[in-house]
Amino acid sequence: MADATFPSAHPSAAAVLGGLDTVRSKIRQAAEDAERDPTSVRLVAVSKLIAAEGIVPALEAGHRVFGENYVQESKAKWPALRERFPDVELHLVGPLQSNKAREAVELFDVIHGLDRLSLAAALAKEIERSGRQPKLLVQVNTGDEPQKGGVSLSQVDVLLAACRDTHGLAIQGLMCIPPADAPPSAHFALLARIAERHNLPILSMGMSADYPAAIQMGATHIRVGTAIFGERPRRD
Ligand SMILES: *Cc1c(COP(=O)(O)O)cnc(C)c1O
Repeated sequence: MADATFPSAHPSAAAVLGGLDTVRSKIRQAAEDAERDPTSVRLVAVSKLIAAEGIVPALEAGHRVFGENYVQESKAKWPALRERFPDVELHLVGPLQSNKAREAVELFDVIHGLDRLSLAAALAKEIERSGRQPKLLVQVNTGDEPQKGGVSLSQVDVLLAACRDTHGLAIQGLMCIPPADAPPSAHFALLARIAERHNLPILSMGMSADYPAAIQMGATHIRVGTAIFGERPRRD
């Protein structure tokens, strides 16, 4: 859909600041419960389908780490925001089509959805061409759900080796989205074990519904949208 449109929500500044505050204090509590340093958990504020004016209050409050799902929507929103807040760190947390690899490498500092060899090849080419070095995370389909992105559990070792040996890509970590109907902790624990086996420092896991559990299981990056910005419009 070349001309896909992006509906957007317009949360009030008070609502966004309240959400951010609540999430920050729950992060502190979850880290304390797990005997972890709260600063070892990076809060990626997922602002997909949130209008720029809904994001500005979080930026003005000092938050700098944001996540988006759609390359086209991000291109429309973030260049102007980055002019005002140049030290923003932008994460692509949604799936990435290989034909958008160039734009993704130009725009994002961290890409969470690397899940297949063809995409690794496309990213490697654009990284070499641009000289930019976004951090790359491999998404793992821990529930082996057919409709979901992520490399299957049986292929994750193969993909990690090929990223390194065939494409010269330094993978920094793993990402997962547990099945909606399953307790998430087992999936978080599984992802943590795979990361440990491969010596990968970044664990991107936990969303609005389950980030305290993810922190308990060692998440270094949590991706939280609704709990900060409120409900989003639906796409499709
Ligand atoms: C939308 C999205 C999030 C944020 O989800 P919430 O439930 O709104 O916190 C996190 N990760 C990914 C991959 C997403 O697509």
